[in-house]
Amino acid sequence: MIASIAVIGAGVTGTGTAWQLAKRGHSVLLADPSLAKPIPERPADRDLNGSTASLGVLMGHAFRRSSGRARRLRQRSMALWPAWIEQLNHPESPLQLETPLIQLAGSAEEAQRMQQLVDARPVSGLQFIASNMLDKADPVWPQAGHGAMLSERDGRVDPLQLLKALKRSLIEHNVERRATDVVELQRPDSKPRCKWRLITAEGRNEEVDLVVICCALGSAKLLQNLGHQRPMDAVLGQVLELQLNKSAKQWTGWPAVLTCGGINLIPQGQDRLWIGATLEPGTKADPAAIETMKRLNDLAPAWLEDSQLLGQWHGLRARPRDRPAPLLEELEPGLLLASGHYRNGVLLAPATAEWVGQHVDKETITSP
Ligand SMILES: Cc1cc2nc3c(=O)[nH]c(=O)nc-3n(C[C@H](O)[C@H](O)[C@H](O)COP(=O)(O)OP(=O)(O)OC[C@H]3O[C@@H](n4cnc5c(N)ncnc54)[C@H](O)[C@@H]3O)c2cc1C
Repeated sequence: MIASIAVIGAGVTGTGTAWQLAKRGHSVLLADPSLAKPIPERPADRDLNGSTASLGVLMGHAFRRSSGRARRLRQRSMALWPAWIEQLNHPESPLQLETPLIQLAGSAEEAQRMQQLVDARPVSGLQFIASNMLDKADPVWPQAGHGAMLSERDGRVDPLQLLKALKRSLIEHNVERRATDVVELQRPDSKPRCKWRLITAEGRNEEVDLVVICCALGSAKLLQNLGHQRPMDAVLGQVLELQLNKSAKQWTGWPAVLTCGGINLIPQGQDRLWIGATLEPGTKADPAAIETMKRLNDLAPAWLEDSQLLGQWHGLRARPRDRPAPLLEELEPGLLLASGHYRNGVLLAPATAEWVGQHVDKETITSP
């Protein structure tokens, strides 16, 4: 059955979900005040949600856990990414999966754990790189003394290009876009054919068969009115854009993403680097946290210390309180929650959209 579905929130979760639902033939409405503005050209250009602030790192295979929901979601997303890229890539919004990703070991023990992981997963595209192989990179890597793990299928996708590509696809699939806040949700009463009602900030009423909440930190408030408690805490992340003094024209030996002590270093263009992202509870950026990050916890090589600051930005992640991220739940008939992705919303966008699509299919097949 074709359903009318409202997706609330147009970050990467909501936009990806709206696109996939429209592809399944549903009539989709996407609501978010941010839809009034174009996707920024650069993250530093304006106020950001989690998605526009993100680095877009996709670390699906270089993940230690070998079972459980988190691993299944990561693996499923990484399996879906190539098809997403292929379908979304367009001359007006070119998109590619930039690979590989390399994690530097911080100690001999960590190197040993990496080696064990590589040995345990022979067909996962993971390789261990011994420390004597790491000295060819130019500019040199920080902390290259213990070896590293290379993941050939992990890497990153440019989140702004992704959002632009998704926006194009929404138009192509006739997704109705409403640049407004949803201020209240009202559940259908028991009369037959009664629908969910959305009240928007302008006081408009929209009626739909199903609602999917993808509002990150805005989700809890909408749910509270309906009696569902899903509190989430803000965890701020800061990113720096640096101009290197030493020309790094080739980034010889550098991967798409280099991870050092949990900090991501991402080459940009010929001689720029993005470095991020901090984990700061709350909504206020701490200048000390960004200083520590720029020094890579005192592991920064001289060329990084000497770099010039070109720009910086921050965004908020939504971390579910007392529940594992993300929150993928059918809260009651016709009400789905796909939110609280915390650190991995970009990585998990394809698996999230698939989960929503499958639940919508289940509901629309079983509903009278
Ligand atoms: C600095 C930083 C770096 C990151 N790096 C990575 C990374 O490398 N890889 C990765 O996978 N993840 C990363 N993340 C995490 C990732 O960005 C988030 O998990 C992801 O963006 C969450 O997407 P979302 O669509 O759920 O939420 P958001 O992108 O935050 O979007 C939520 C949207 O909901 C809208 N909204 C809220 N309330 C309402 C309402 N009542 N009505 C209508 N709309 C509403 C908001 O306007 C907003 O646009 C990073 C995050 C930050 C901050």
